[in-house]
Amino acid sequence: MTGVEHRPGQGRIIILSGPSGVGKGTVLKELLSRNPRIFPSVSATTRKPREGEIDGIHYYFLSKEEFERKIAKGEMLEYACYNGNFYGTPADKVQEKLDAGMDVMLEIEVQGARKVMDSRKDVISIFILPPSREELERRLVGRGTEDAQTIRGRLKTAELEMEQAGLYQYKVVNNTVDQAAAEIEAILSSGGEG
Ligand code: 5GP
Repeated sequence: MTGVEHRPGQGRIIILSGPSGVGKGTVLKELLSRNPRIFPSVSATTRKPREGEIDGIHYYFLSKEEFERKIAKGEMLEYACYNGNFYGTPADKVQEKLDAGMDVMLEIEVQGARKVMDSRKDVISIFILPPSREELERRLVGRGTEDAQTIRGRLKTAELEMEQAGLYQYKVVNNTVDQAAAEIEAILSSGGEG
């Protein structure tokens, strides 16, 4: 495994991907509570807010036109279309935090992750896997935030995404939140050279 290249004093970009329903959000929350040096990037999206989601905290909720304007102005570090909506990482905050020596966490899907991996060397990439496909389906249905058709679409996408796990430097199985967060912490403190 080749080491992660980043200048002294600079943070690293940590990419966290995994299929919908795998529990990325919960693992990320646990990780952030353990490690104050990680800054979670807030993405922009054109999808509608879910119940309880707040603009500027969970996402920047933009119209398609606003999103396309940001792409045209080169303001996105990466973006992708996922299940019919745009999702992207605003570039300005990421660089600001890296320069301040913080690690920046991007919780993004596979297409966008590939763009970041291809264009930068200061990246640690981690893919979170479910203990099994059956367990993933159970978690997705149990979340209760989507209708049956959306869940079917997400399961299909999940299968395609899991086929791409090999692109990532590390794979972590989310058996429990504590175990997954601890494994990711160990990866980060090894400097991404495990
Ligand atoms: P959700 O709609 O469930 O919040 O997110 C759907 C997918 O979009 C998830 O896999 C999530 O990781 C991904 N995603 C969220 N923000 C971004 C982003 O800024 N860029 C990319 N490429 N994917 C994102």
